[in-house]
Amino acid sequence: MPDLLVIKSCFLSCLLALLQTSSSQQEEQSQLLLVSFDGFRWDYVNRVPTPNFRALMDEGVQVEQVENTYITKTYPNHYTLVTGLHAETHGIVANEMYDPIHNRSFSMEGPEVYDAWWWEEAVPLWVTNQKAGRKSGAAMWPGSDVAIGGTYPSHFLSYNASMPFEARVEKLIDWFLGPEAINFGVLYWEEPDESGHNLGPESPLMDVVIADIDEKLGFLRGKLKNAGLYDKVNLIVTSDHGMTQLSHDKIIELDTYVSRDLYTWIDKSPVVGILPKEGKLEEVYNSLKNANPNMVVYKKEEIPDHYHYRHNVRIMPLIIEVKEGWTVMQNRNGSFMLGNHGYNNSLPSMQPVFVARGPAFRRDYTKASMRSVDLYPLMCSILGLKPLPNNGSLSSVQDLLVETSTPKPVVPPVPREPSYAWAVGSILGAALVIGFLFIFVQQVTQRQLPPLHLTNSEITQPLL
Ligand SMILES: [Zn+2]
Repeated sequence: MPDLLVIKSCFLSCLLALLQTSSSQQEEQSQLLLVSFDGFRWDYVNRVPTPNFRALMDEGVQVEQVENTYITKTYPNHYTLVTGLHAETHGIVANEMYDPIHNRSFSMEGPEVYDAWWWEEAVPLWVTNQKAGRKSGAAMWPGSDVAIGGTYPSHFLSYNASMPFEARVEKLIDWFLGPEAINFGVLYWEEPDESGHNLGPESPLMDVVIADIDEKLGFLRGKLKNAGLYDKVNLIVTSDHGMTQLSHDKIIELDTYVSRDLYTWIDKSPVVGILPKEGKLEEVYNSLKNANPNMVVYKKEEIPDHYHYRHNVRIMPLIIEVKEGWTVMQNRNGSFMLGNHGYNNSLPSMQPVFVARGPAFRRDYTKASMRSVDLYPLMCSILGLKPLPNNGSLSSVQDLLVETSTPKPVVPPVPREPSYAWAVGSILGAALVIGFLFIFVQQVTQRQLPPLHLTNSEITQPLL
């Protein structure tokens, strides 16, 4: 009898183990939603009551100072968040770019944003997630409606600034729940950047805008709760950059110092790429280098190392950087804004908010600082993905996570459907083999051993 019991329990243990393996493969698909409120400066949460941001801090983590990447503009930093690369490496070096090798221009407001060629110096996380057999969803994140490397997100929205935040959220919730369920989503919203530019961040009117963003975060939290996702999805809320106040008294007019016949103007203030006409580099440089104490001109090879902003042909031979709050224009006839960003990424005013909560994150934990390039390896760890080469460091931010000592498994690049079929096949195959073995041994033992007299009632009961 002991032999028979051993075989029976072995059969059941094997079956249970296989079933548990299958279900844990499903559970290991951690869910993650990355949200960017464009231009949400780190200290906006302290300006007006922001109960939804506060709730996330209490339930999760907050990073007080996030050093984003140079230049502190929208397109470079959004691509950094999903690649872990500085702009010189991922290739989206500005909102307005020129590639002198290929004689091609890029404007964030032009059709070139849909030309994958500009984006393909890097691979965004939604593509890597899909290559591991998962599904990604993107609601208007810069670059997410582009077939980067020939791959769109599994679900995405073509950019449409007039689509309300609430509609974007509802799409994402559907994607997390749908038959082709995503495990990774990205969500973009244009505010408070737009109002910050128009009103200036110091305007009292910005208080209303910030309160509105908090309400939008409340809407997202409510939708996640209603969908039963709130305690499953890891939610990261951050931004690309901050915002600083400008002044009509702080304008530098480049026409005062150098003829515009000598160069081509690339990108906008406060960091301007200057492409001198052939043979005019030294003349333009010498005209500008000591022209104004509120402006620095760098030859490309002189750009400070800590900017990580040199090694790309899309970075111009000269760049002009102005001091915080200053604006550089060719003359005052250009359009002027009351708020701007793009300045030195070590300035507190340029830095974004960062809060996160969910099963992967610690609770009620405040971290002093991180770099935005570190977010990518952090997200890869949460998703169980092997990160591509990047400029970030998981160890620098691992204290944000609950399990600081256990690295997540790397998921092999096997499509989900075949692996699921494999698991079912394995279970059925193993069950058949073990079942056959069980019946065979039972037959043999019944023939060779005397009849059994079981007294333990538990053993006589079905075990399943
Ligand atoms: Zn932005």
